[in-house]
Amino acid sequence: MNAQEAQLDYPFADALPPSGGTMEVAPGVKWIRMRLPFALDHINLWLLRDEIDGQQGWTIVDCGIANDATRAAWEQVFDNELGGLPVLRVIVTHMHPDHIGLAHWLTERWGCRLWVSATDWGAARLASITTTGFGGDASAAFFAHHGLTDPEALAKVRARSSYYASMVPQVPARYRRLMGGMAVRIGGHEWRCIAGYGHAPEHIALYCATLGVLISGDMVLPRISTNVSVIDLEPEANPLQLYLDSIAALRELPPDTLVLPSHGKPFTGLHRRIAQLAAHHDDRFADVMAACEQSPQSAADLLGVLFRRRLDLHQTTFAMGESVAHLHALQAQGRLIGLTGSDGVRRFVRA
Ligand SMILES: [Zn+2]
Repeated sequence: MNAQEAQLDYPFADALPPSGGTMEVAPGVKWIRMRLPFALDHINLWLLRDEIDGQQGWTIVDCGIANDATRAAWEQVFDNELGGLPVLRVIVTHMHPDHIGLAHWLTERWGCRLWVSATDWGAARLASITTTGFGGDASAAFFAHHGLTDPEALAKVRARSSYYASMVPQVPARYRRLMGGMAVRIGGHEWRCIAGYGHAPEHIALYCATLGVLISGDMVLPRISTNVSVIDLEPEANPLQLYLDSIAALRELPPDTLVLPSHGKPFTGLHRRIAQLAAHHDDRFADVMAACEQSPQSAADLLGVLFRRRLDLHQTTFAMGESVAHLHALQAQGRLIGLTGSDGVRRFVRA
């Protein structure tokens, strides 16, 4: 546990749901933990006791990636944890593969509807049939423009053209739209949708005032900072400011809210965590400014400043997107100016 993590409270201490099982974290709210084949090795999914139009059952929140191991883990949960009741709907917080990957299979398996923001539904449909944003030629060209010159790394990015589709082979053709501010009745309680930006196109977190619970998705995580990246699909974007504004808005929730994050353990200390994340990015902004005062810096030049550890290819592509995100935020604040050199590489200097 790092020093910041130690400032948060974990009401369930080190208890974790058993594999293929669940752990109740609030009345009618069950925690499921599934493996992921990445450095980030697990995802938390939620099973909410529900009733729709008089029918008893369950609502699933987030799905896991589409592979045999995850499907098998779900089957175990269905056998052990549903008490003979059906799944009535599938809610997805956002379009990333670990969240929406199995939505198609789950909704077909139970004959129920996917509920998701319109933006993320569209982005997921697009990403599952194209290579945009997650690999391929356009992605490699974007990274090269931001100074990534290693031919081996670029070749791997180019080759990784079906990256998203490999984890999200299909997205349901129909969905029900979630929007910020909307109230969804689940299991007799009202859950309010909170739209958040910067991590995904339109991430939906769910807050229940009666239970004092926030399903935070990837917007607020207890141990790691949320990935906020500029991708080739929207090359001039400023997602980091959107993200910082989005988490600042969560301060309106009570400080003792139980936060159910997609990665890591349920915790309380939401306001403290928001402050930690804001301070973390302020530190990174200061590092970037210091480097850009010495000499013009590309996003690739800054990897060693922002990430003081060796990165593999997967991490390098995430890190490049994050590096560009910090540069664009500082540019929008008027603190940096971006200039594209005769070599085609974009570098930033103090304004
Ligand atoms: Zn995500």
